[in-house]
Amino acid sequence: MNNTILQLTRIVQQVALAESPAAQVSLIVDSISDVIQADVCSLYRLNDQHDMVLLASHGLKHNNVVTIPNGKGLVGLVAKSRHPVNVEDAAAHENYFYLPQTQEEKFVSFCGVPLVLFGKVIGVLVVQSRKAERLSKESEGFLVALASQLALIVSDIPVENKIEDQNDRHRGVKGAPGIGLGRIRLCLSGELNSVPNADCDNVDATLSQWQQLLENVKQDIQTEQAALGDDMPDSVSAIFDAYRMLLADQALIERVQAEIRQGHWLPYALKLSIQHYAEIFHAMEDAYFRARAEDILHLGNKLYNAWRGDKGLDVNHIDGPVILMGVQVSVSDMASVPSNKLAGIVCFEGSSLSHTAVLANAMGIPAVMGTGTLKGLNDGDHIIVDGNEGQIILHPSDVVAGEFKKLVQKEKSLKKQLSLLKDLPAQTTDNHVLELFTNTGLLADITPGLKSGAEGVGLYRTEIPFMVRDSFPSEDEQVQVYERVLQAYANKPVYMRTLDIGGDKQLPYFPIHQEDNPALGWRGIRFTLDNIQLLMTQVRAMIRAASGQDNLHILLPMVISTPELMTFLELLDDAIGQLSQEGYAVSRPKVGVMVEVPAAISQIPMWAKYIDFISIGSNDLSQYLLALDRNNARVADRYDHVHPAVLHEVKRVVDMARQYNLPLSLCGEMAADPIAVVLLMAMGIKRLSMSAAKLPKVKYLIRAMSHADSHYILQQALTLESSEAIRNLVNDHLEAIGFNEYMRNQQTAAEA
Ligand code: PEP
Ligand code: MG
Repeated sequence: MNNTILQLTRIVQQVALAESPAAQVSLIVDSISDVIQADVCSLYRLNDQHDMVLLASHGLKHNNVVTIPNGKGLVGLVAKSRHPVNVEDAAAHENYFYLPQTQEEKFVSFCGVPLVLFGKVIGVLVVQSRKAERLSKESEGFLVALASQLALIVSDIPVENKIEDQNDRHRGVKGAPGIGLGRIRLCLSGELNSVPNADCDNVDATLSQWQQLLENVKQDIQTEQAALGDDMPDSVSAIFDAYRMLLADQALIERVQAEIRQGHWLPYALKLSIQHYAEIFHAMEDAYFRARAEDILHLGNKLYNAWRGDKGLDVNHIDGPVILMGVQVSVSDMASVPSNKLAGIVCFEGSSLSHTAVLANAMGIPAVMGTGTLKGLNDGDHIIVDGNEGQIILHPSDVVAGEFKKLVQKEKSLKKQLSLLKDLPAQTTDNHVLELFTNTGLLADITPGLKSGAEGVGLYRTEIPFMVRDSFPSEDEQVQVYERVLQAYANKPVYMRTLDIGGDKQLPYFPIHQEDNPALGWRGIRFTLDNIQLLMTQVRAMIRAASGQDNLHILLPMVISTPELMTFLELLDDAIGQLSQEGYAVSRPKVGVMVEVPAAISQIPMWAKYIDFISIGSNDLSQYLLALDRNNARVADRYDHVHPAVLHEVKRVVDMARQYNLPLSLCGEMAADPIAVVLLMAMGIKRLSMSAAKLPKVKYLIRAMSHADSHYILQQALTLESSEAIRNLVNDHLEAIGFNEYMRNQQTAAEA
């Protein structure tokens, strides 16, 4: 038995470590047939059409794609029954379905077990043998155990489907959304890494060359930043600032000098120093810091290329849209391509935290990161970058490219149609008006909100400006950031939330030591009250930034008790007193709490006398009501903000807010889910806050609905016993009023 467990563990580990999906599937089938001594082992995977596609087989012929239609054959029976099927003579079974191209008639017995992930069958593992003999109970048990371990890995393996050219498809991670089609321009970064050692002939001359190089690159960075235009958000300026900071870093400068004095020529001295710092960052536990190692490598290559006299990327020889591709694609590479020509970015390394991804998001350029090294590519090769799915397709066929072009058109056309609603009110057909606000956090998000017609900022997540910096921003720095938001939304309300770090939001420079239950730990107002100096600085900065604007509302996260609220209100009085004494013209902002922890709900009547408004944070409220970690993929399927328990509690909050005359908004993801919007509107919520990109669709829905109908639907929904039943009920109505059809029609119009 121990031996079996060892074999099982070995197979799972080897499969998990295999370098490509193709290697993974062949390892699975080869190892199983080896361990069980079966003539055939095959792995089938369910595709979008619910057919079973043969991904790999040891023993069956499968030169072309082999597909078993939905529910057919013994494989279909395994999937349907969710149970092993173990028979000595497959052909004698009533469900037998013959696949001529595989020449499987040579094999007599059949044993299939389902691969189940989160309660759903995603594939079937089959072994067959020439002998008319059922598989032993022990081997069947082994297959069942192995299948349950492999399901998660297999779920990540792509299945052949209609529009994809599987051979040339490579998965990475999502860097920035959107789809781009174009020709590759390789960015040959990483050259510094291959610089050989050589002696330095003249130390003094090389030292001054180093000084000059630093100056030249500083100038280049200035020019590149200017080339990206004035519209670039602060998140992008921050990237250039980071480069400048590194260039001015005495430790780096002196390390290169020391290497030169050791007798190395400049490129090698640079290589050693850059590698040294990159390794330090690479070894850090925190993902954000690890990603900063890339900035150092980018800069190293930039310095090296400048030393060689490289003038940056030339894309003139490439016709049409350009996709930049390389181990890393630096901000400088991006800046050297005219923005109307840059259609996508692919990095072999990196993550969604890379500065390349941050910049791609800000510029609206699709990006895929971390594809792994791809060899044999040339400048000018065709490629599709699918940032929505985190995948790329190399050398796409005309059919594949055509399908993706339709998707691009669809996105464009829907955006255009919805943009026409910008200045129209979010008013139902029976004249019930809602206010639609936007959620933001980065300065980069300000303009999209205004462009999509947001009537205010319902949630400004202040932790984001804190997260993209290398240390706590000073009061003056915070004033600048907040001022720009408050001014951009002059005369419109802005709800700024005090720092809500902890849980899934960490500050790289303030690690909160490992907690067993971070979601229940030191986060939100608990953290800031314990670090009251930070809260004081932040509140002072908010009040100073609002001077003369009068649109600031302060929102407190994760409040669970009156003492927390009282301590904050005392701090607020203190901050106002201090600032007045210092000569600032200040006014008292309105203050409210997030209702995002169940404990807050029953205390609303007690808090009503202290606060001016409440805002439901449906993300956390659902997470804490359902005791489901919102970031845990294993339970993600169960998490639903239209769960009956959540709906009933949200309604309770809305009713209490009405009773105690407290203005109310809702700012979690629920606000942008069409199904939830129908129900929230019926409850009487008048203000919803969501990301700018989702706002036009919600407005379209509200304008297509009648408030009276939503009321009727809510009454029924509140009697239903599952999220699924609630979703079906509301969805039927969305079909009936043509909302779903409108969204589909945009696609048809684009395809025509
Ligand atoms: C929420 O919990 O719903 C919310 C808006 O806050 P965050 O997602 O930032 O935790
Ligand atoms: Mg929250």
